[in-house]
Amino acid sequence: MTDAFSLPPDAAEPRLPVAARTLELLRTVPGLAPRYAAHPGGVRTLEELAALPPLLKDDLNTALAHLEPRSTTAATWLFQSGGSTGAPKVGYAPTGFYMAGVQEHWQALDRDDVFANAWGAGRMWGAHFLAAALADRAGCRVIALGSITREEYPDWLGFLADRGVTAIGGTPSVLRLWFTHARAAGIKLPALRKVLWLGEAWQPQLEEDLAAVAPQARRWGMFGSTETWVVGTNTPDCPADTFHPLPDQLVHAGPDGLLDFTTLNPEMLNPVLRYRTGDAGGLTDCPCGRPGRAMRVLGRRDNVVQVRGLGLHVDELVARAEREPGVSRAQVVITEDGGRATGVDVLLLAGPGTAVDAAALRTELLSATFTLSTAFQHDPEHVTVRVADALVSNDRTGKTASFVVREATGAAAATPDTAAASDGEAS
Ligand SMILES: [Zn+2]
Repeated sequence: MTDAFSLPPDAAEPRLPVAARTLELLRTVPGLAPRYAAHPGGVRTLEELAALPPLLKDDLNTALAHLEPRSTTAATWLFQSGGSTGAPKVGYAPTGFYMAGVQEHWQALDRDDVFANAWGAGRMWGAHFLAAALADRAGCRVIALGSITREEYPDWLGFLADRGVTAIGGTPSVLRLWFTHARAAGIKLPALRKVLWLGEAWQPQLEEDLAAVAPQARRWGMFGSTETWVVGTNTPDCPADTFHPLPDQLVHAGPDGLLDFTTLNPEMLNPVLRYRTGDAGGLTDCPCGRPGRAMRVLGRRDNVVQVRGLGLHVDELVARAEREPGVSRAQVVITEDGGRATGVDVLLLAGPGTAVDAAALRTELLSATFTLSTAFQHDPEHVTVRVADALVSNDRTGKTASFVVREATGAAAATPDTAAASDGEAS
């Protein structure tokens, strides 16, 4: 089974004392202790590691609430870690966000770059600060853009062109907005050579806009989460879905096709031990020729869908709607225009002869769902809740998934994610 790990035993096992210490910490968490009681031994080998139960996001939040880790050398930052309903769940990281180790293996930025950081800042989002830490290591010039409103694109694009920006970074959804607006306004960024991305799968449509706006630009990807921080990186020579794990990150591809991650970094504050992000994937060789095992990420297997760069937990939203008196079933329909979510509609099936107060439910869902209230803070009218005659079904499979993504132009279609998720549903 050791070939299911990103590192061979002779490279990984001398560093497993870090995982053994994480295990001891997790054993002290009252909510998690029983499951580890069945594994009284330590973690000396990859086989022993593979035998431990995987951690899910809720488990990690249970652990963090108990452990409340603090950096001994720097400030401890709290960042949003999934949890799209109610108050944000948190992940922790020290100043620097472990980016020194990333920069050692991935020089996406260098001293001559002028880097526009377009990841949103504030609201406990980590990516903006992580990218800033990378830029700090590179010693380049930084323009801290954050997120902007629709009307502001032309002016800011003009500014970026004037400044000779050579690098920009953001989630692919946000990057698409930048390049779509640039193309629409006829603005070119001839000096742009690097597009850094993190937070979602790469969107192939970006290549088309880049060819028009910034023909020299190439993509540089990072893969990770607020729990694991950066797990792996890729370069323009790698396929967009393939990443080279950092040596501090031990990646395991389970027999069920799900990836899990174990930190080998003694400085890591989050107790990341066989942590599952919900991403499916496997280990592979990368055609770029770089030695060592690479991981191929095939997308989310759980019902978390990216809406404007934030994870929306569809099952939580549907469950809340279905608790409403009179609602027999609910479905989330996400409308996208060129990869960007333009609206979220919650469709309700009402039981026979019952009345549902959809307006009141909408008010409640919006205020209680962090992802919706944040992603649609400028256009909340694009979140609707209404009673429908029927939910949207997949014509091919006949299944009605809990969420559906459709293009703004017309027909609804279940995404591959949806299909995978609905295959696992009992109904
Ligand atoms: Zn590669």
